[in-house]
Amino acid sequence: MKNYNIAVLPGDGIGPDVVKEGLKVLQALADADASFQFDSTTFEWNSDFYLKHKRMMPEEGLDTLKNYDAILFGAVGDPRVPEHIPIWELIMPIRKYFKQYVNLRPIKKLPGVNSPLKVDGNIDFYVFRENAEGEYSNSGGRLYQQTNEELAIQNTVITRQGVERLSRYAFDYAEKHNIGEVVNATKSNAIIHSMGLWDEVVKETASEYEEIKVVDVYIDALAAHLVQRPESFDVIVASNLFGDILSDLGAALVGGLGLSPSGNLNPEREFPSMFEPVHGSAPDISGKNIANPIAQIWSGALMLEHLGREDLAGIVMRSIEDVIEAGSVLTPDLGGTAHTDEVGDAIVQAVHKRM
Ligand code: ATP
Ligand code: MG
Repeated sequence: MKNYNIAVLPGDGIGPDVVKEGLKVLQALADADASFQFDSTTFEWNSDFYLKHKRMMPEEGLDTLKNYDAILFGAVGDPRVPEHIPIWELIMPIRKYFKQYVNLRPIKKLPGVNSPLKVDGNIDFYVFRENAEGEYSNSGGRLYQQTNEELAIQNTVITRQGVERLSRYAFDYAEKHNIGEVVNATKSNAIIHSMGLWDEVVKETASEYEEIKVVDVYIDALAAHLVQRPESFDVIVASNLFGDILSDLGAALVGGLGLSPSGNLNPEREFPSMFEPVHGSAPDISGKNIANPIAQIWSGALMLEHLGREDLAGIVMRSIEDVIEAGSVLTPDLGGTAHTDEVGDAIVQAVHKRM
């Protein structure tokens, strides 16, 4: 039996509400299966913490998190704090320091969920987004402010090593699941330096995988294809910015942000990986107990998979599907009238039935 130590960062807004439901479901698994036990420690590193201490986490925050098996994250963001602060002082440092260079974003339409599109087949693909460099760099600056000559430069940092490790992870996944084609989201016709290197390294890495073909698709065309025929995709590799955009597009195709989980993975397992819903703190619905907790609960399933408990992850996924298919306990974003905790309770009940 392994006793996992999980660090929990509920964050702001709807974060704490959905995290509570995520933990409830993990606890239901632990109650039913003696071979899966965990301890969770909650860290209130959020916008209130920032307003008090002028920083998003304590100085030794990263060291504190280092020894946990995984991090479960809710969402951060608060109208009283400039938007870039939680991103650059909490999320980015965790992703970078713990070398969580793969951002895993499953886009899967669950049975019973309506897509805004008429689609014949299954929408079920993965976006592997580069998570540690790329367009989201803090390199650049502004000159000649408040003059007619004012200009801003924002540098994109693409490294051979960064592209190689990300694409290798995606190709390994494709190989393991017998997927013969990987789509590379690019724009090397216009962004010649950084995307040029990106394409080269993706292709070189792919050459080590005999069974896998890489198809370069320009990001603008890819956005259109994802709307026209989302069912034809299996694996997409994308830079930080392109992956961010594609995964919000993907989320919209399969029921919205309330159903979109993600994992920030350190594949070498040298450091903890972090699991969080794609959505933000949603100040517009915060405090109303109507946020959909499924993205958070699903992120917990990704965590279980990463911890080697694919069996338990499967139970969580089928329990989510049970509740969605039954259709009687759903939050307003899915057309229901249920509250956040009621959806969590329904999924817990489904877990108990399945264990
Ligand atoms: P961020 O900048 O952190 O990405 P955002 O401004 O994109 O945040 P979100 O907090 O992700 O905003 O919310 C976008 C919209 O989706 C809002 O209208 C919000 O209410 C809705 N939304 C987000 N998460 C959920 C959820 N779990 N359940 C229901 N609705 C949600
Ligand atoms: Mg957003």
